[in-house]
Amino acid sequence: MTTLVHSIPSISSTFPNSLQPLKFQLKPSTSPAKTLFISCSSKPNNNNKNNHRKRGSNETHKKPLSKNRKKSSYGTSRRSVLKKTFTQEQVNFTAQIPTDPRVGIIGGGMAGLLCALSLEKRGVKSTVFDTGKHGLGGRMGTRVIEPQQLIFDHAAQFFTVSDPQFGALVDGWLERGLIREWQGIIGELEVGGKFAPFPSSPPRYVAVNGMRPFADSLLSQTSMVNIERPCWISKLEPFNGMWHLSENGKPCGQFDVIVIAHNGKCANRLLASSGLPQIARQMKRLDLNSIWALLAAFEEPLPVPSGIPAFEGAFVKGVDSVSWMGNNSTKLLSSGSPHSWTFFSTAAFGKRNKVPQENIPNATAERVKISMLEGVETALGLPKDSLPRPFYSRVQLWGAALPTNTPGIPCIFDPYGRAGICGDWLLGSNLESAAISGMALSNHIADYLQSGGARPEEFAVGLDKEFLPLECHDIGQFAGVEPVGKANIVPEYQFSS
Ligand SMILES: Cc1cc2nc3c(=O)[nH]c(=O)nc-3n(C[C@H](O)[C@H](O)[C@H](O)COP(=O)(O)OP(=O)(O)OC[C@H]3O[C@@H](n4cnc5c(N)ncnc54)[C@H](O)[C@@H]3O)c2cc1C
Repeated sequence: MTTLVHSIPSISSTFPNSLQPLKFQLKPSTSPAKTLFISCSSKPNNNNKNNHRKRGSNETHKKPLSKNRKKSSYGTSRRSVLKKTFTQEQVNFTAQIPTDPRVGIIGGGMAGLLCALSLEKRGVKSTVFDTGKHGLGGRMGTRVIEPQQLIFDHAAQFFTVSDPQFGALVDGWLERGLIREWQGIIGELEVGGKFAPFPSSPPRYVAVNGMRPFADSLLSQTSMVNIERPCWISKLEPFNGMWHLSENGKPCGQFDVIVIAHNGKCANRLLASSGLPQIARQMKRLDLNSIWALLAAFEEPLPVPSGIPAFEGAFVKGVDSVSWMGNNSTKLLSSGSPHSWTFFSTAAFGKRNKVPQENIPNATAERVKISMLEGVETALGLPKDSLPRPFYSRVQLWGAALPTNTPGIPCIFDPYGRAGICGDWLLGSNLESAAISGMALSNHIADYLQSGGARPEEFAVGLDKEFLPLECHDIGQFAGVEPVGKANIVPEYQFSS
């Protein structure tokens, strides 16, 4: 097992403006926004001789999203996305911040949801846009197969806590009954059926009804957060001092500040011609691994060699096609039967077998399934072909699964473009990092809005931060998850008080 060695600098030292106690709160106003003057000018990027997108005083008169506009740049080649990313001009908002500002958050995973939740605590209204057809949550995915009553968490499995402020949030979720401590045995399974349990402390948490319902309930008690789902924001346009968001030509609203709470190819395309070259450049530095998930249900419990306890989750070591196996029936259903397991591949296997995730060829799906089931057999030390056939199975590729590098900073914010980024990858690769990042960005934005936007230079953060490699399990970082007898290494990030 790879040991978690990444250590994250303390938030207070890297990020002095955020996460400080409030001096005063922005109060929600019921009257229309009073914008004293609205303008949107451009700050030319002198490095770029070939700016092919004109932004300037004319732009304030140009109406965005007209039907006559050129076709959206979405879907263009990687080369053209790269070219656009590095040649676009920086947008520079100079309009005063209205008294009742609105933030548009693009992405409703843990980071985006926590950003919205904490903005509300600071008195700021927001709208969360998310592509999810079945619910919010992004990589907090749960699949329910109705007739057979099967349930699978098919990305995030459980989480741990190392940060006190995240711990306080987790205590609240425990009180509301949204999550509970996972008491099942989890450990490390080495080829041939050698199992080493992890100590039960620090605690591990799972969502009571699965990760997706948990994500959906995170904003259930809010009154200042609007949710638009399913909605795929395909264009960001600065116009008249505000960001205009749209989905394939359909206007989705205007916002004073935008938050990019997603990553990968989608974010790179969206940012390629947005007027945010620095934000776009940082996003392009991010590398993500690919992981296959195999969801499989068995009539009987998996045959484990004698001497191995009936574990509910295991990080698998020494098998190319499997890095994790988790029993969802025992974790999420009291009955425990039928036996629904989520298996994840290693990142190396994911890379070798990568295909377009929206269009997986049947032959690839079958080959991946067979390899992963063979991997389970090898891990458990079972004779060849002795693993029972699952009565239900499905493979899924997480093409942009987990970050392999990070700037190690809670969030990125461009005060000239009035845009920020949050997400797990800014700090690490787990739900805790995503939550902390979302909260950090919301506090930074609230501080910026509170300042009236008059001193933008004080609020630029993370725009040039170098990235470092991230070492962790193939499916993320878990504080304290080490076999008995080995040292527990806990990531070091702390909120300032
Ligand atoms: C296979 C796998 C297993 C994992 N296991 C664990 C685990 O056990 N424990 C753990 O702590 N972490 C785990 N993780 C990591 C964890 O899931 C992530 O760290 C966390 O969910 C990231 O949250 P996020 O908000 O940063 O991003 P995401 O969850 O990716 O959210 C981004 C959201 O934005 C949406 N979006 C994208 N583009 C647009 C657009 N243009 N318009 C609107 N919406 C858009 C996406 O659909 C998505 O819903 C796992 C991840 C994977 C892939």
